[in-house]
Amino acid sequence: MQKRPKLSVVIPCYNEEACLEMLHGRVSGAARAAVGDDYEIVLINDGSRDRSWDVMQRLSAGDPRLVAINLSRNHGHQLALTAGLDLCAGEEILIIDADLQDPPELLADMRAAMRSQGADVVYAVRRKRDGETIFKKITAAFFYRMLDRITDTPIPLDTGDFRLMTRRALDAFLSLPEQARFIRGMVAWVGFKQVPFPYDRHERHAGESKYPLGKMIRFALDAITGFSTAPLRFASHVGLVLTGLSALLVLYIFAGFLMGAAIPGWTSLMLVVVVLGAVQMFVLGMIGEYLGRLYVESKRRPLYIVADVAGPVMGHASLGYRYADSGEVSVSPVTPRGES
Ligand code: UDP
Ligand code: MG
Repeated sequence: MQKRPKLSVVIPCYNEEACLEMLHGRVSGAARAAVGDDYEIVLINDGSRDRSWDVMQRLSAGDPRLVAINLSRNHGHQLALTAGLDLCAGEEILIIDADLQDPPELLADMRAAMRSQGADVVYAVRRKRDGETIFKKITAAFFYRMLDRITDTPIPLDTGDFRLMTRRALDAFLSLPEQARFIRGMVAWVGFKQVPFPYDRHERHAGESKYPLGKMIRFALDAITGFSTAPLRFASHVGLVLTGLSALLVLYIFAGFLMGAAIPGWTSLMLVVVVLGAVQMFVLGMIGEYLGRLYVESKRRPLYIVADVAGPVMGHASLGYRYADSGEVSVSPVTPRGES
């Protein structure tokens, strides 16, 4: 097997022709400073409509460390990034955007943080976001805080995909087969030691954001539905409240009937409206609970990720786990099923 490079830098690109040259120079400089010649840069052209692919081919012809990948069409940021992560080979992996909003020169400090804190993931947290609209800043701040409330996975606040990962964290990440991918959440889900790295986000080097409102909303929905079944459980909560309220209302309606205060027909009509309303919400909630579980199952995520093993493990083959020579555990796509 070919030896892995020490570092892979993975960069999804959509209509970034004006950034690529500068990107290539700065990323190469940062990578060389960190690991010498032992790196690769993986550029993914996500169906750009400008000349990005031509530029990539030209750059790659002049640099044996540059791998350029052309997707068949625009698949979206998260899938383009997944393609790059699938295809890269490095021991350590840096994910970065093409627009140089995230300075590649931080690589050295991120590697230092990874080593000094013994972390598998160093994720960059935005202290400041230059050159972004107030609207984007406010919606992003709101979104990450809301997401944090409704999900069980501790997804870090104000964090994009700019991060450094070890191979074992990446392999664990790659064992999550779901279609709708919210990568920063999936990396958080994987676990291991993950540490924050505060930085200031710069303005785009050139071009404009490839995340218009429509894409932002779709991205947010993928995040919410991928990491929370709270919206599905909403009906349960409403149903519970309605059931309590309707019990009180039923008393009130009967009292009116007994005291002769109700006009004929009111009592039966009100009973039907109140009780049926509560029952319907309750049943909808029940369906939501099943649907939520069905949805979680359908993602077919591994049940757990093993970080380390000390001592011999018997029968691990039946668990579907493979132990690499290094003593690290890598996860095969076959995972054990829990109780049936
Ligand atoms: N991107 C992509 N496919 C898309 C949209 C964006 O590969 O459909 C890339 C884009 O080229 C950039 C990264 O994803 O490298 C982040 O996009 P952008 O900088 O436009 O997002 P923002 O920083 O405005 O959130
Ligand atoms: Mg950007």
